[in-house]
Amino acid sequence: MQTYITQQNLNTLLDKLIAEGKRVVAPRISAGTPLYEPLKNSGEMVMDQLPRRSAKEAFFPVCEDIMSYEKEGQQITLKDIDPAAFPETVLVGVHPCDAAAIPVLDAVFSWDYRDEFFLERRKKTTIIGLACTQSDDACFCTAVGLSPAEPKGSDLFLTPLEGGGYNCATYSDKGEALVAGNNELFSEPGGAKPLPLAEPQTAKFDLKKVKAWLDEHFEDPAWDSIATRCVGCGACAFVCPACHCFDIVDEGTEKAGKRRKSWDACGFWKFTHHASGHNPRDMQPKRYRNRIMHKFKYYDDKFGQTPCTGCGRCIRLCPVGIDIAAIVEEISKK
Ligand code: SF4
Ligand code: SF4
Repeated sequence: MQTYITQQNLNTLLDKLIAEGKRVVAPRISAGTPLYEPLKNSGEMVMDQLPRRSAKEAFFPVCEDIMSYEKEGQQITLKDIDPAAFPETVLVGVHPCDAAAIPVLDAVFSWDYRDEFFLERRKKTTIIGLACTQSDDACFCTAVGLSPAEPKGSDLFLTPLEGGGYNCATYSDKGEALVAGNNELFSEPGGAKPLPLAEPQTAKFDLKKVKAWLDEHFEDPAWDSIATRCVGCGACAFVCPACHCFDIVDEGTEKAGKRRKSWDACGFWKFTHHASGHNPRDMQPKRYRNRIMHKFKYYDDKFGQTPCTGCGRCIRLCPVGIDIAAIVEEISKK
């Protein structure tokens, strides 16, 4: 379904959803930084900046409790967290590189084990995507086969129009239901032209060629030159919309505590550290190699696509200037 909404009506819609008790998450400025966070009102939303971190936190928080325990004498009481209590959520203003990563996470969290914490939040969330009209030197969505107008992962997709307002296209029952339930705020498309889209400059990667090289070069001197300067900070994984590793730890005392699920990263030395003391990824280049292998080979082996959506966050934030797009370009020329 194609329809039209003014900026004012979009704000009215979000305020109405907040008043109904829904969690409305959108890009907002938080201590000077754009982040996807719950809004108190629609006036907090910023539509023209890519948030520093990705939208995955709406389903996969940095850290969450999954269980608690108490011990009284010999009596141990376990309390589960009930995913059914998670709130209905509308995630709005989601950039295409973030929305396209959500199906990547769906595949992982419902593959050999169904992660109810992720899946329940996902079931209760409607995603309103937003076409990008600005890009920077780090953006490369077009190089991995996406585009600034890619609706993949969105239930409803907004395209900014010349003269104001948005073209709205629905891509799922959730998107249709949101429009149908608020149809006084939507109108017939008037034929206005879309604003010019962002134009990422990186040439399209030959992903088949990149994967073919990775298939044959687990051991290669190139890994040392590619990754010796990686300091293993894990920033690239934490800002990535598609990275999904986590750790589970018990925190507390013998008497009481919590079991918590927290983000983890293959760039960390401890990520593969065995209890025996052995670490199969004992040097940093081996850890960075895993990052490239995961993005351009392992996930593809399992699910038939690259999980990298070209958001460029890892390039912008790497403290030592490692540029994943330049590395993939280099591999594709080998
Ligand atoms: S690997 Fe880097 S560019 Fe690709 S999706 Fe993750 S953060 Fe974005
Ligand atoms: S952000 Fe840069 S230095 Fe930090 S782990 Fe990633 S590649 Fe290594």
